[in-house]
Amino acid sequence: MANTPYPQSYYAASANPVPPRPALQGEVETDVCIIGAGYTGLSSALFLLENGFKVSIVEAAKVGFGASGRNGGQIVNSYSRDIDVIERTVGPKQAQLLGQMAFEGGRIIRERVAKYNIQCDLKDGGVFAALTSKQMGHLESQKRLWERFGHNQLELMDQKRIREVVACDSYIGGMLDMSGGHIHPLNLALGEAAAVESLGGIIYEQTPAVRIERGANPVVHTPQGKVRAKFIIVAGNAYLGNLVPELAAKSMPCGTQVITTEPLGEELARTLLPQDYCVEDCNYLLDYYRLTRDKRLIFGGGVVYGARDPANIEAIIRPKMLKAFPQLKNVKIDYAWTGNFLLTLSRLPQVGRIGDNIYYSQGCSGHGVTYTHLAGKVLAEALRGQAERFDAFAGLPHYPFPGGQMLRVPFSAIGAWYYSLRDRLGF
Ligand SMILES: Cc1cc2nc3c(=O)[nH]c(=O)nc-3n(C[C@H](O)[C@H](O)[C@H](O)COP(=O)(O)OP(=O)(O)OC[C@H]3O[C@@H](n4cnc5c(N)ncnc54)[C@H](O)[C@@H]3O)c2cc1C
Repeated sequence: MANTPYPQSYYAASANPVPPRPALQGEVETDVCIIGAGYTGLSSALFLLENGFKVSIVEAAKVGFGASGRNGGQIVNSYSRDIDVIERTVGPKQAQLLGQMAFEGGRIIRERVAKYNIQCDLKDGGVFAALTSKQMGHLESQKRLWERFGHNQLELMDQKRIREVVACDSYIGGMLDMSGGHIHPLNLALGEAAAVESLGGIIYEQTPAVRIERGANPVVHTPQGKVRAKFIIVAGNAYLGNLVPELAAKSMPCGTQVITTEPLGEELARTLLPQDYCVEDCNYLLDYYRLTRDKRLIFGGGVVYGARDPANIEAIIRPKMLKAFPQLKNVKIDYAWTGNFLLTLSRLPQVGRIGDNIYYSQGCSGHGVTYTHLAGKVLAEALRGQAERFDAFAGLPHYPFPGGQMLRVPFSAIGAWYYSLRDRLGF
C-alpha cells in the first residue's frame, strides 16, 4: 500500500512528534466521516466532537499533507474576495451575515491554540503592504469596510511608519492588522489532530477515499475498508481530484511556491521584521513572508495555474525575495516546496450539500487559514440543524471556468497576466 510522506518542507523538518496513525482496514461505522485531514476536516471534526458526534477522518496521506501543512502560515482575515464584492454579488442581507463571520476564523484558531495547548509559534500582527497609491487607496477603503463589520484592530501606515515594521523600501504605506498574525501551519494541524483524538475522534492516515456510495446511508470506500456514516464531509480541497465530479467542474487546483532561508541570526532577522509581523503585499499575484521561530525567512509568491510542479522553485521565488530584501543576497535557501490551493472563478468559497447527507467546503482561493477554521464551525452547525450561516455561504453563486477543464488553465493564466500587468503599471 502507498505510503505518502510529507513534502520536504521546513515545516515537515520542524514538526512536533506525532503518533503512528494506521490506515483503515475493514469496516467501521460512525456519525460523520470526513474526507481529508487539513484545517477544513480537522476544524469540522473538533466542532462535531465537542457537540457529541462520533467522527472518523480518512486522510489520503498524512495529517496536514495538503495546503494546511505547507502554507505561508499567515492568519489573514476576511475572504479572498472582500465583503464589498460579496455585497455587490449577493445583496446586503446575505453579505451582512458573511461580513459578521469575516473575522471569526482567526478567533477560532486562537481559541483552539489556547484550549488544546497547541505548540505552533502563534504570533500576533499582520501587515498588508502597498506598492502603489491605488493599493493604498484600496487599503483605506478596506479599513473603513472592516470597521463597519466591527474590526477595530487596524492601523493605516504611511511610508515612514511601514519602514519601521518592514525593512523593504518598495512600500509606500500599508495597513497593520493586530488580529492577523502567523503560525507554524503543520504544527497547528498536528495539534488539532491530537485534540480530535483526545475527544475520541479517529484519524486513518494513508487512507484515500476512492468512492462515495451515495444514498440514505452513505458509505466511503477506501482501498482496504469502508466507513458507513450518517453524514459525509468532503474536505479534500485542491487534492480531491475527481472524487466528487460536480465539485471539480467549478474549481481549479493551483500551485504556489514557498522557500525558507537558512537561519538568519537574531540581529539580521530583527532588522528585516523588528516586531516579527507577517507581511503580504497587495499585488494580484502577491508575495508573502515572515520569520520562523528559529529566525529563518519564509517567502512565498507566484501561482502555477493547474498545479503543475515547477522544476526549480528557488529560481522562481528567490528573485522575488531579493527584490524585497536585497540585503539577503548571500543567504542560502534551505527548503523549497510547492503546495496546491483551490481557485474558484469568483474566488469565494464553494460550500454546499449534495443530497441530504454529503456536505462540502472548498475553494477559498488562496486565503484559507482563517476561513477553513470558520468553515468547520459552520459545517458542524449545519449538521446540528442550525443552517443559517451555512446557507449564507451555500448561497454564493459559482460558475464553471471559461474554457472548461481543457482551457481553464490558459484562460486563467491570461487573466492573471492582465491583472499583474495592471499591478506593475499601477492602474
Ligand atoms: C503554498 C501555500 C501557501 C499558502 N499560504 C497561505 C497563507 O499564508 N494564509 C492563508 O490564509 N492561506 C494560505 N494558503 C491557503 C491555505 O493553506 C488553504 O486554503 C487551506 O489550508 C486549505 O485547507 P483544507 O483543509 O481545505 O485543504 P488541505 O489542507 O489541502 O487538505 C486537504 C486534505 O485532504 C486530503 N485528501 C484529498 N483527497 C482525499 C481523498 N480522496 N481521500 C482522503 N483524503 C483526501 C489531502 O491529502 C489533504 O490532506 C496557502 C496555500 C498554499 C498551497
